[in-house]
Amino acid sequence: MSRYWSEHVSGLMPYTPGEQPKLERLLKLNTNEHPYGPSPRALEAIRRGADDSLRLYPDNESAALREAVARLYSVSPEQVMPGNGSDEVLAHVFNALFRHGERPLLMPDISYSFYKTYCKLFDIPPHIIPLAEDFSIRAADYIDHGLQPAGIIFANPNAPTGIALSLSDISNIAQANPDVAVVVDEAYVDFGADTAIPLIEQHPNIVVIHTFSKSRALAGMRVGYSVASREITQGLLRVKDSFNSYPLDRLAIAGAVASLEDTAYFEASTQKVVAARESLVKQLVSIGFEVLPSRANFVFARHPSHDAGELASALRQEGILVRHFTQPRIDQHLRITVGTPEDCARLCNTLSELTLKTS
Ligand SMILES: *Cc1c(COP(=O)(O)O)cnc(C)c1O
Repeated sequence: MSRYWSEHVSGLMPYTPGEQPKLERLLKLNTNEHPYGPSPRALEAIRRGADDSLRLYPDNESAALREAVARLYSVSPEQVMPGNGSDEVLAHVFNALFRHGERPLLMPDISYSFYKTYCKLFDIPPHIIPLAEDFSIRAADYIDHGLQPAGIIFANPNAPTGIALSLSDISNIAQANPDVAVVVDEAYVDFGADTAIPLIEQHPNIVVIHTFSKSRALAGMRVGYSVASREITQGLLRVKDSFNSYPLDRLAIAGAVASLEDTAYFEASTQKVVAARESLVKQLVSIGFEVLPSRANFVFARHPSHDAGELASALRQEGILVRHFTQPRIDQHLRITVGTPEDCARLCNTLSELTLKTS
């Protein structure tokens, strides 16, 4: 608390990102970064863009990116809002769509923790709905809630569980809440779930959020976007242009467009991660872990006879970082990013030794 701060600042709950330490021989499986690099064509476009033209402001509409997204998903560029990472897109979504006085925002108890952070920042009351016993989202809870909500948000596949909801469930949720925005954060959708973008035409209250940080391997560049009806997107753009008219720099626009155009690289690198995930799940199960069914580039696993916090620290001693959340219900799980087959082998060998040693 400081007398210089605005009053609301002391009540904020800033998001805690996964650690980015500078250690040797470190295996980072804690923030769901892609184990393979971005498309070489994206890198080439970024290099080509690094010239004298950087003295000029970028295109404030990021038209090239909005058009490339529109082509990919058969929507109009007017339905796309770009942002400096999807976290910024989420901030604009909360600001533009969820601030309706006392009306609560419905969200799962276990989901991306930034949602609660933005509720504090924008003074939106959250209404927390527990996941089912098996950690899935129960669509019925978002249909028969008897509330007058400000909106609904969840991640699909959900984080950190990796479990995906079907499009028919999402469509039913949107149908049952026609007067509010239903926001589907699809940060991991490319690793095995279905995008809700095609539902927007029938359900103009659906907002889909994508990022280049996970399946496009461009977390260091900060690019995300939303796809929604024109009506919703106009509101989002009003907020964006009241905050930062140039969220994407020239290099980010060039790199993101080239990445979207390199379908072959994208499909091959995604496939490699999905194959590594399936093999990682088998290896973890063979060591005695219970693993939730993941459609993402991470798995959420627990060992019935080993404390998750202790395992995470022991792994860290061995130079392997995984994510451990201390939140009730999931404090005995580890969220492990899918790496290369070699990364997965190093992790599983280490886990195998750790669980043998102490059991
Ligand atoms: C990683 C992640 C984001 C943030 O992505 P950025 O584009 O890097 O800001 C948003 N939502 C979920 C569920 C994520 O896991």
